[in-house]
Amino acid sequence: MVGADLNFQDRTAAFAAADGAHFDLIVIGAGITGAGVARDAAMRGLTVALVEAHDIASGTSSRSSKMIHGGLRYLAQGDVAVVREAASERQILRVIAPHLTRYSPFCMPGSRTGIATMRAGLATFERLGKVPKHERHKVLDGDELLEFEPTLRSDRYSAGVVYPEFLTNDSRLTLANVRSAAASGAVVLTRAPVVEILVEGGRASGVECRGNLPGESLAAVLHGRLIVNAAGPWVDAVRALESDSAPAQLTLTKGIHLVVPHERLPIRDTVITMTKDRRPVFAVRVGDVTYLGTTDTFYPSTDVWPKVEWDDVEYLIESMNATFTGEPLSPADVVSVWAGIRPLISQAGKKPSEISRKDETWVGPGGVLSIAGGKLTAYRSMAERIVDRVVGVLGRSTVPCRTGVEPLVGGDVDPAALRAELASTTGAAAERLVDLWGSEAARLASDGGDLAAEVRHAVNAEGALRLEDYWIRRSGRAWFTLDPVGRDLDLAGTVMGELLGWSPERLADEVSSCRSIHHDSVACLDAHR
Ligand code: FAD
Repeated sequence: MVGADLNFQDRTAAFAAADGAHFDLIVIGAGITGAGVARDAAMRGLTVALVEAHDIASGTSSRSSKMIHGGLRYLAQGDVAVVREAASERQILRVIAPHLTRYSPFCMPGSRTGIATMRAGLATFERLGKVPKHERHKVLDGDELLEFEPTLRSDRYSAGVVYPEFLTNDSRLTLANVRSAAASGAVVLTRAPVVEILVEGGRASGVECRGNLPGESLAAVLHGRLIVNAAGPWVDAVRALESDSAPAQLTLTKGIHLVVPHERLPIRDTVITMTKDRRPVFAVRVGDVTYLGTTDTFYPSTDVWPKVEWDDVEYLIESMNATFTGEPLSPADVVSVWAGIRPLISQAGKKPSEISRKDETWVGPGGVLSIAGGKLTAYRSMAERIVDRVVGVLGRSTVPCRTGVEPLVGGDVDPAALRAELASTTGAAAERLVDLWGSEAARLASDGGDLAAEVRHAVNAEGALRLEDYWIRRSGRAWFTLDPVGRDLDLAGTVMGELLGWSPERLADEVSSCRSIHHDSVACLDAHR
């Protein structure tokens, strides 16, 4: 079995079962880092508990730019190791989760001399990433560039290059790892923030977590021989639970994304270009929308929903209008917005985009192993290194790491073949179903393949407990549809409320909470449209 069904409805039983239980490893945080560590450790035979403050992937791991990329720009910064790791991990992900590694050629326009200089970098990038010959970059002259991507400004670009990159769905990749961990026996507790790290004889020996669903008062104490802190932007806050004198190690930077209708920016696949301040920005097509990203600015707080400022929006819109021809984009075109926080390792004196994306670990005074930095793309190899270390500390002999060869949930699929097979019953929905659920699309299709089937699957198999869990992270409807808080949101709430026994008041709160998240994220646009 590649993935266990996660049904978290019976919270009282889940907390009672976890309370007092002993594990080899407790992982704090179910972002991609914690999910990857939990999966690897459980597959090697360790007993594992994965404890998450909110929902699976509710932090940075649902707010990335959703690229499984080799990180060409890190080559320019001299981070050869980051590029090598990311580029080879990309090939592994294509095998274990082909539905979450969607080929999307990146088109980078420039000048003839600029593109000529880039070729050397691209050749190194392809060598490091063992890119197969038929997928290597192609250089385009001015006419070929405009034929390939007619939306580009012909007065600005005289050449271009197209090279292979891949898009993912970050929250579903994280969820697939958590379900795979659970299939190997990991205990998963969500909406259960760790509020205390227990220390006995100077060693961290467990955690206390408390349920935070509306109206509940549940708590559990879990015992663990080792604790991994994978709390992303909150790593320093969790380190402070172990020792209040632990010095801060992270620098946080914010990145935003704007979603516009595809018809307003009708690009073919993905375009990546340089801004005035020499940063790469991009436009990506996903179905009916195009998303634009991203920014990189210092952000000193750890808000669950980082604040989007007008300056962020203006920067992206101006960069896009300098790149594309046609009616300029305006704030009125923006359908939705998301922002994420990068947990980066502090490097004094560096600008946000100069800070390395290398991961780093720290061992606290009680032995808690904290990890941060890194990229979504390389999560699997990062997790493998961490679990090697965990196994060493525990002094256990285990089976070798198999995360690079065993498919993730939904990953045992030939996406093209399944799309073709399901098209006869689900029509145009087949593509969306296969892209998001992989081989499990067949399961959803047999239940009708519609929004209600998605909600049922989210609750019964994917551990959704709140409407935003489905709306934002399992279905992507909050950011990849043209009417993100319209009638479909109410319909999803009704189906979910029936399954989870919500009162009319709770249902209304769940729906209005989703609408507030949306309205708050676009609030800075109000004065400009
Ligand atoms: P998180 O995903 O934040 O997970 C940490 C988890 O810990 C959260 O779910 C949180 O709720 C939980 N937690 C916190 N405190 C507690 C507690 N006390 N108890 C229990 N749980 C707790 N990488 C790429 O490879 N490709 C990209 O295209 C890309 N784009 C990016 C764009 C932006 C704007 C940003 C911000 C990042 C991007 N990244 C990208 C980087 C990537 O998204 C991150 O490296 C990765 O998601 C970090 O995952 P994480 O698990 O470490 O942190």
